[in-house]
Amino acid sequence: MLTSLILLTLMSVQTASKTIFTLEPLPYDYAALEPAISGETLRYHHDKHEAAYVAKLNELIAGTPYESMSLEEIVVKSDGALFNNAAQAWNHKFYFESLSPDAQKEPSGEFAEAVDDNFGSFEGLKEQLTKACTSLFGSGWVWLVVDASGGLDIISEQNAGNPLRHKGLKPLLGIDVWEHAYYIDYRNRRADSIAALWSVIDWKKVGERYESRK
Ligand code: MN
Repeated sequence: MLTSLILLTLMSVQTASKTIFTLEPLPYDYAALEPAISGETLRYHHDKHEAAYVAKLNELIAGTPYESMSLEEIVVKSDGALFNNAAQAWNHKFYFESLSPDAQKEPSGEFAEAVDDNFGSFEGLKEQLTKACTSLFGSGWVWLVVDASGGLDIISEQNAGNPLRHKGLKPLLGIDVWEHAYYIDYRNRRADSIAALWSVIDWKKVGERYESRK
């Protein structure tokens, strides 16, 4: 009895030293982003899609050297199914954290100056993001990134693609253009789903990421 208790204790200690990624709750209520994004969409997107990526990620790292890595490290170093699920876990957390029912509707401070310098104006940035989102074929992500010299750029990635894979790029905002992100609310009208995002993207959060790049 005593021996098995000790064994159990050791097993749980060993388990605790390995990384198990957990699905964090959304930082707002499911219905908080309506009418831009419905509660039904968020329930599917977070509780089904993101949850599945996290579960698969944990399954794939079990018993491998990836078990002791951070999620960001796995995104940078992995390939194939592990990359797909790790990146989707990272991307979705980042995406949901970029949205808010109390969003600051436009950039401010140093970040606003960078937007004007790189895109002419905030309207110019929104136009270019919209164009990238509507012209991305199939499933993927459109990213606003900052490079090592502080310049902003927009990059489109297929499937789970993430800018962390490109040396020197830091993601500031990721827009999910997979159909599961908008099909319940907007059916095939991706452009309408992007137009609605402008009311819930929190540019304060995006600006904080820009300012913490150094
Ligand atoms: Mn998604």
